[in-house]
Amino acid sequence: MVLALSRSLAITRLVFRPIALASRPAPYYHTSYSTITQKRTTKMSDKEEQSAKLDLDYTSERAEELKENIEAVQKEIDEVWAEVEGQGGVKPRLVAVSKLKPASDIKALYDAGYRHFGENYIQEMVDKAHALPSDIKWHFIGALQSNKAKLAASIPNLYVLETLSSIKTANMLNKSTPDDQTLNVYIQINTSSEDAKSGVQPLSLSKGSDPEPNPEASELIDLATHILTECPRLRLHGLMTIGSLSASTSNSSDGGNPDFDTLKSTRTALVQALKSKGVKGAPESEGELELSMGMSADFKEAVKQGSSGVRVGTRIFGERPKKVKAGDGQGVTK
Ligand SMILES: *Cc1c(COP(=O)(O)O)cnc(C)c1O
Repeated sequence: MVLALSRSLAITRLVFRPIALASRPAPYYHTSYSTITQKRTTKMSDKEEQSAKLDLDYTSERAEELKENIEAVQKEIDEVWAEVEGQGGVKPRLVAVSKLKPASDIKALYDAGYRHFGENYIQEMVDKAHALPSDIKWHFIGALQSNKAKLAASIPNLYVLETLSSIKTANMLNKSTPDDQTLNVYIQINTSSEDAKSGVQPLSLSKGSDPEPNPEASELIDLATHILTECPRLRLHGLMTIGSLSASTSNSSDGGNPDFDTLKSTRTALVQALKSKGVKGAPESEGELELSMGMSADFKEAVKQGSSGVRVGTRIFGERPKKVKAGDGQGVTK
């Protein structure tokens, strides 16, 4: 049984290898893959099929390059952290954003000891999660349509879904998460209030001790309350922002990105509001809610301003390939 299976997989590898090599610079999947698998006589399980699709072999040169990059980023985090450590909080986590990068890159960093990886597209994350070791801690950081919530919740080692921004999606996620499991979620905040960015509006801190939320901001309080009281399988674990890049670059000299300040004060206001509303299960202190902020261009600033987790892609993996629209890894090609 086992022998027959591994033999058929070995044959598959032989057949696939030249194709995989030829498509090196392309995205992690190959469009003609499904055409090839249709010719197979023995049916593979979904899981085997996913795994066979992704080549995990990496060259030592690439592994070395990735390791150098991530160590350089970690060193910069450590240096800034050493300056602000005294202000409390926990040392920020480095999440390697691997979207549109081959699974072999992730495997190289995994083998070097790294576990937290971020992905933006559900189908791509599902495929990679199937092919790669199960103790990887996946962060979903892309836009999530509620009809993809079930697929997201099907990944057993999804560590946190960082982009929750609606009650509808919260309900779908709660329903799709198995009874005996909990799924960490962050609420995404549109700190820069740009139309193009998703997320709920931030809360502003009022001058007095009572937070007087602006009307749209009650959306955040409502969503947080809903998660805490109606979604027993979801664990409200933090807030996330992408922030506007211009805010980061224009302020890097005088220190301080207003988006990061906004996320921080939104957390303060949210914790106060939930407490004063008497919401059951509300966080006791701000420290119970993480702040996911900072990317390649601004992670040092974010650490300085109290980030609990930075999401760094380009600085580790290099420039990403352009995302292809048709058959783009979302699994809708028909
Ligand atoms: C792509 C992405 C990142 C990583 O961006 P880099 O600039 O490549 O570091 C971080 N967060 C989110 C939400 C992203 O979509």
